[in-house]
Amino acid sequence: MDVGPNVVTVQNRVARVNILEGIGSRVIRGPDWKWGKQDGGEGHVGTIRNFESAEEVVVVWDNGTAANYRCSGLYDLRIMDSASTGLKHDGTICDTCRCQPIFGIRWKCAECANYDLCSICYHGDKHNLRHRFFRINAPGQEKVLLDCRRKSKKISLRGIYPGARVVRGVDWQWDDQDGGNGRRGKITEIQDWSAVSLRSAAYVLWDNGAKNLYRIGFDGMVDLKVINDAKGGSVYKDHLPLLGEHNPALKAGTTGYQVGDKVSLYFAHTICLLDCCLQRHQIPVYSFIHALSDVGRSVSTWS
Ligand SMILES: [Zn+2]
Ligand SMILES: [Zn+2]
Repeated sequence: MDVGPNVVTVQNRVARVNILEGIGSRVIRGPDWKWGKQDGGEGHVGTIRNFESAEEVVVVWDNGTAANYRCSGLYDLRIMDSASTGLKHDGTICDTCRCQPIFGIRWKCAECANYDLCSICYHGDKHNLRHRFFRINAPGQEKVLLDCRRKSKKISLRGIYPGARVVRGVDWQWDDQDGGNGRRGKITEIQDWSAVSLRSAAYVLWDNGAKNLYRIGFDGMVDLKVINDAKGGSVYKDHLPLLGEHNPALKAGTTGYQVGDKVSLYFAHTICLLDCCLQRHQIPVYSFIHALSDVGRSVSTWS
C-alpha cells in the first residue's frame, strides 16, 4: 500500500503506541466481565486488536468473535501475555529457563535476592511456590506484590494451542495455503513470529498437507480462528494485570496526545481494517462497524 506523508506520521505513532498500550497482547476475561460467553468461557484467550479510545479496546477472541471492551474504571480484560507486543525488560534473564531478556511480564521473587522468572516459568510453577513475587508489567512501572502461588487459584487456558482445529481468520492474507476458505488444519506449535515478538504465531498443519506459521498477536493480527479449541496450560488468574489498570499511556491527560490525534489514529486503523475486510475476506463491513460502536454488546463473527 502506498502511503502519503500524513499517513506515515500516523503509522509511526501506531508503532509507538503498540507497545505502550499492548496491541497484540493475549488476554482473558477480567473481573468486571459481563458479556456472557462471547470469549468462549472463562480462560479462553483473545488478542488485543486496537484501542478505540483510552476507555475501550477491541479484542478478537480465538473463536473469531470481535467486540469492544472496557479498560478504564471497569476492567473487562486481564493481560495473560504481553510478550507478543515486543515488550521486554532489557538486562534481565529468567533464572529458570535462562531466556534473556525477559519478554512480556516480569516476575521478581520478593524473598530471594535478584531472582526473576518469565511468564512461562511463573505460571509453570517454577521456583518455590511459597515465595511471594512482584509483578512488573513493563520496565519502569511500579512493582506489584502478589500472594504466593501456593495460596492462589489457577485456571486453564483454552484457544489456539497445540491440538486445536482452526480455519483462516480475520487477517488471513496467505492466498489458499490452507486449501481454500473454510478448510481446516491443526495447530502443532506456538512460536515467535519474529525475534522481537514472542509467542505471537502458531504453526498449522493443514488437512491438505501444507504446513506454515501464522500470526496470532503479532502487531495485533489474527490469521486463524479456532473451530475446536485446545488447552494451553494454566495461569494464576488473579496475578495477571487488568488491561488499562497500570498503563500510564491509558491514563487520561498523561498520553500527551490531543483529541485530534486519537481520532486520526482511530480512523487510520479502521480504514486499514475495512480494507482488510473488503479485499481479503468479503466480510460484511457493517457488522464490524457495529461491533466497534457498542462496548461488549455487539458481536461480529468472522467467517
Ligand atoms: Zn523462564
Ligand atoms: Zn524466591
